[in-house]
Amino acid sequence: MSIRCEIVSQDRMVYQGDVDIVVLPGTDGEMGILPHHAPLLTTLKFGLIKVRAKSEEQVFTVAGGVAEVQPDIVTVLADAAENVEEIDIARAEAARQNAEAALSKLDRAGDVDAYLSVEAALRRSALRLDAAKRFRTGKRHVNEE
Ligand code: ATP
Repeated sequence: MSIRCEIVSQDRMVYQGDVDIVVLPGTDGEMGILPHHAPLLTTLKFGLIKVRAKSEEQVFTVAGGVAEVQPDIVTVLADAAENVEEIDIARAEAARQNAEAALSKLDRAGDVDAYLSVEAALRRSALRLDAAKRFRTGKRHVNEE
């Protein structure tokens, strides 16, 4: 028995496949979704989505978003998401350095929107770097279908 999983980001379909379990970083905590789960809607925090099919696990970073669970499908609408195997480490490192440099020049009490935007960029790059370091296997999984 499996459950469909679709992870869509603002600019692309990141993953689609039939899996045994989807683990989501819900804002109220980590949630494991099995086939026939009760319907629910949850917001996602910055973190990891794990999908497992036939004992093979794929790990994705997600920079917030929402997930809709139906008994036969989990749909993730992510602000940004990527398979850890696809993460471009040099790009994430450059993004982290740019964000750190910009943060050091910004006044927190000044332009709040600019501050929050740079802070979010720093969190995205830190998440990608950390996840690539911890979960990369070297196997490339291109979008399943
Ligand atoms: P950058 O400054 O490098 O563009 P960003 O955090 O501003 O980083 P996002 O706006 O979150 O980038 O993402 C834009 C698109 O690029 C998304 O599809 C995202 O998955 C992808 N992306 C961002 N950074 C990386 C990376 N280091 N490796 C692979 N894909 C990435």
